Amino acid sequence: MTELRDDELRLLTRTREFAQTQVAAQAERWAREQRSCAALLPLAAEIGLLGLQVSRARGGLAMSFACKAKVAEILAEVDFGVAMSLINSHNVAEQLARLARPAVAERYLPDLMAGRISACTALTESTAGSDFAAIQTRALSVPGGWQLDGAKTWITNAVDADLIVVYAQTRADAGAAGIAAFVVNTQGAGFHRSSGNPIGPVASMGTGGFSLQGYFCREDELLSPPGEAFKDILHAINGARTYVAAMCCGMVGEALRVASAFGHQRQTFGMTLHAHQGWRWQLADASIDLEAARLLVRQAAELIDGGVDAQGASARAKVFSTRMACKHIAALMHAMGAEGLSEHYPLVRHLAAAQVAGLVDGSTEMLLERIARELKAA
Ligand SMILES: Cc1cc2nc3c(=O)[nH]c(=O)nc-3n(C[C@H](O)[C@H](O)[C@H](O)COP(=O)(O)OP(=O)(O)OC[C@H]3O[C@@H](n4cnc5c(N)ncnc54)[C@H](O)[C@@H]3O)c2cc1C
Repeated sequence: MTELRDDELRLLTRTREFAQTQVAAQAERWAREQRSCAALLPLAAEIGLLGLQVSRARGGLAMSFACKAKVAEILAEVDFGVAMSLINSHNVAEQLARLARPAVAERYLPDLMAGRISACTALTESTAGSDFAAIQTRALSVPGGWQLDGAKTWITNAVDADLIVVYAQTRADAGAAGIAAFVVNTQGAGFHRSSGNPIGPVASMGTGGFSLQGYFCREDELLSPPGEAFKDILHAINGARTYVAAMCCGMVGEALRVASAFGHQRQTFGMTLHAHQGWRWQLADASIDLEAARLLVRQAAELIDGGVDAQGASARAKVFSTRMACKHIAALMHAMGAEGLSEHYPLVRHLAAAQVAGLVDGSTEMLLERIARELKAA
């Protein structure tokens, strides 16, 4: 089992404090007022969350993936949207540190890691989600760079992102092999933000869309060329699937804690809910599945940290954990009666978030296909 380093354990302690002092107090308000959590970025940067996996040479903390998955779990206990938003912005910093030309990395990385600007990754379009290779956003080679035209939707952080890694097709009908990744500055001519995709309970993740009309990208803003971009995203997505699974564990863990505390205090028929055998079995069931999900997450994280192929392990972790979250958060809400629906508790937000978790970074059905392919090869 990967042992976390002392500096990683200290980051987890800081993350817990941050989640309790900064996130818990505002999560319900972001949902009610349909606001993103972008204002949190500088505070997240202060404790190191925006440079977590960025190399030390680029000013980051170079922490393990296992540590990142634990950070994701801790943040999602309080608010899934915040966990997604901060990690998505961080991911762009990590990608720029690894792939960007020096001038581009130097232009954006310090501001990204300090939380002065935010970022997102845009693949999905209104006509292409699961079938990513079918994206229609076009990149046309022009003197000095590329011209981008197209529109993206359902993008985490897009309502206020300053910087976007946009995936676009460079050759008509080339499919995956023609897709490249570009660094897009939202202040540039030809960038138009569209209205958001408001989902109240996960408003904190600032999901929205934008269009590009004759947007000019300089040659050095090509982040990943055709042939490389698709491979890079398939590699990165194993990590995304694993940390989304970890987030589901965080939400179920919190739902279990809340329902258990409620059951020890609420009385029916002269005894606490917890004293009713049928009632407490629901909690026991949830705790078994939670433990199993955590083991799957740990297994996938270890493979990722070891540089070993984690496609199957991350797919299994995500399918199991998202299903587990949808099932048990709903059951634990029910176990609290009407009170489970109260905004004083995070369960309504967590239940909606579990649905989102089943779609982002590969829907359950796409992952089942991935797992079935491995069975065929065995
Ligand atoms: C809150 C939120 C945030 C998001 N953030 C981002 C982001 O930051 N960046 C980004 O690029 N995208 C993002 N997405 C988009 C997400 O990746 C897509 O929703 C996902 O890829 C599924 O695509 P789709 O919604 O177009 O569904 P579709 O691809 O239209 O699929 C619809 C349903 O059919 C199922 N299905 C599709 N094909 C098959 C098949 N062959 N066999 C069986 N079932 C199938 C799918 O599993 C799904 O249940 C976000 C989505 C949400 C909801």
